[in-house]
Amino acid sequence: MLVNVKEMMQKARDGKYAVGQFNINNLEWTKAILLTAEEQKSPVILGVSEGAGKYMCGFKTVADMVSAMIGDLGITVPVALHLDHGSYEGAKKAMDSGFSSIMFDGSHYDIDENIAKTKEIIDLCAERGLSVEAEVGAIGGEEDGVIGGGEVADPAECKTIADLGVDILAAGIGNIHGKYPANWAGLRFDVLEEINKATVGMPLVLHGGTGIPDDMVKKAISLGVCKINVNTECQLVFAEATRKYIEAGKDLEGKGFDPRKLLAPGFEAIKEKVKEKMELFGSVGKA
Ligand SMILES: [Zn+2]
Repeated sequence: MLVNVKEMMQKARDGKYAVGQFNINNLEWTKAILLTAEEQKSPVILGVSEGAGKYMCGFKTVADMVSAMIGDLGITVPVALHLDHGSYEGAKKAMDSGFSSIMFDGSHYDIDENIAKTKEIIDLCAERGLSVEAEVGAIGGEEDGVIGGGEVADPAECKTIADLGVDILAAGIGNIHGKYPANWAGLRFDVLEEINKATVGMPLVLHGGTGIPDDMVKKAISLGVCKINVNTECQLVFAEATRKYIEAGKDLEGKGFDPRKLLAPGFEAIKEKVKEKMELFGSVGKA
């Protein structure tokens, strides 16, 4: 059964660890992440962007697949199905399709419109028992065609949005989606500290987890980050493992062309990466 993120986030906040949000793209991705979470006894959040939702035929297909998989695989750890960077319309669609948690990204609106729309989404989610993530200060880089400027959030605006009743809050602190450039200045811990103080007890979210050095990740967790989004890193290891399989000519040996064989190295690579992240975030054994 899917759960919202409220309880897992409060436990993470109290226990000073973070739960990984791993974005899914297909059945193999979902299965790899769920099995790893079960093996590691870790709570887990499956992230679905609007683009990935469309790719997988629609939110209903995704929600039904994930729910069925939890049953068929005998998954017992808490699993949340979370809309990643949802638009206003997308958020409504995902809540009607069976998602257990919604991110409404109103960071590209001015703050008044972000507040008004976030409030509406909070009310709709409250009626359904879903959790809500809001965003202040656009996260840099590209997320499914949406280019963010890499803003640094204003702690006062973070408090205003947090006080609306969101369950988790994403704030830009110099983090970006995708690969980080060589000249990246690092996370703004001074700002994170101010946001953490201003929003007292609010579980914070770190987007763009790919390529942030481990010591920075740990420091961010110590400053209130309870959810870390991992997307690009799984894509990179899946592509690398698949490329190696084909470059080694394995698809030409015997029945190596069978998709169950062809996709296996990428599947294993995702499992390994997810395990590594759960260990880093401290969520192993917390389910
Ligand atoms: Zn993001």
